Amino acid sequence: MRGRMPEHRRTNPGRHVYFLGVVPLAKQTIHNDTLSPRLSDDVVRRHVPCNLCGSDAREPFCPENGLGLVQCQQCGLVYVSPRPDAKELYALYGETYFHNNESGVVGYSNYIKDEGNIRKTSNRRLTLLERFIQPGRLLDVGCAVGFFIDEAHKRGWQVEGLDVSSFAVEYARDHFGVDAQNGSLTELDYEPGAYDMVTMWDVIEHVPDPKAYIERAAQLLRPGGIVALATPDVDSLPARLTGKRWVGYKLSEEHIYYFSIKTLSQMLEAAGFEVVDVRHVGKYVTLRLFLDRLGMYAPWLAKLLELGERAFKLSEWALYINPFDIVAITARKK
Ligand SMILES: [Zn+2]
Repeated sequence: MRGRMPEHRRTNPGRHVYFLGVVPLAKQTIHNDTLSPRLSDDVVRRHVPCNLCGSDAREPFCPENGLGLVQCQQCGLVYVSPRPDAKELYALYGETYFHNNESGVVGYSNYIKDEGNIRKTSNRRLTLLERFIQPGRLLDVGCAVGFFIDEAHKRGWQVEGLDVSSFAVEYARDHFGVDAQNGSLTELDYEPGAYDMVTMWDVIEHVPDPKAYIERAAQLLRPGGIVALATPDVDSLPARLTGKRWVGYKLSEEHIYYFSIKTLSQMLEAAGFEVVDVRHVGKYVTLRLFLDRLGMYAPWLAKLLELGERAFKLSEWALYINPFDIVAITARKK
């Protein structure tokens, strides 16, 4: 889920291309419905209660972006409603989304090419997390091809991962010898109270029942254990300033929850966590990809920088880009 959409320019009509879960590359489309199946238009959509507080009171949220978002009038959580049921959504994310030949062969090859940047980003996040907890037993939810857990392993963590993509977990096992399982957090078997840390990078916005994921993380952690999540922040300054043009809305049609620091903190606290760190985080990206994103907001500046990029062959330079619209929250199980 997290960042599993590859850098490779693959998409189907109407879907924007993105990588690392946060940075759209270009609005190219290719016309091949077997690559990334979408929900059919006639799928049954029903209203769902707020996942945070259970209320059915809702009002449209940023309707001009056309994503069908609503905001809970009681707690402020932003989500998609009405929507297809969890089974349909899981079929979209969990099976056909990744379990097709193209995503394994074509897409991941480019995600894998970004390995260096993903490892740098992973180390930066681990350095922060190790301020709160010593290396111990780690479960990474949405582990993709395993770069994060492989880096954690090098730093002394005992690592396990899971991902809905069978291709990804096979890659992680084959290349890094890590313990990676194919499936979802709420379906796979894990030992309660046995983990020191659970990480979920760019996962929570995709799942039909994020509360169940957070409660499951609480169940698997020992008292004092740490959960760390990153997700687009719908209440961030970039989101508020850019309105319907916010890059967060362009990431994916599959994002069904848009958290804020407030709503995510509330969900964590309700599950028995104490929030210990909140910050907006970035990622290492190559200059080429940075320019693609910049081009969405300031085409003239992107063009100018492109000239420099070509002149000095800077495409593969890694930059740490923090757009201040992705929130990372670290919380401790009480
Ligand atoms: Zn609510």
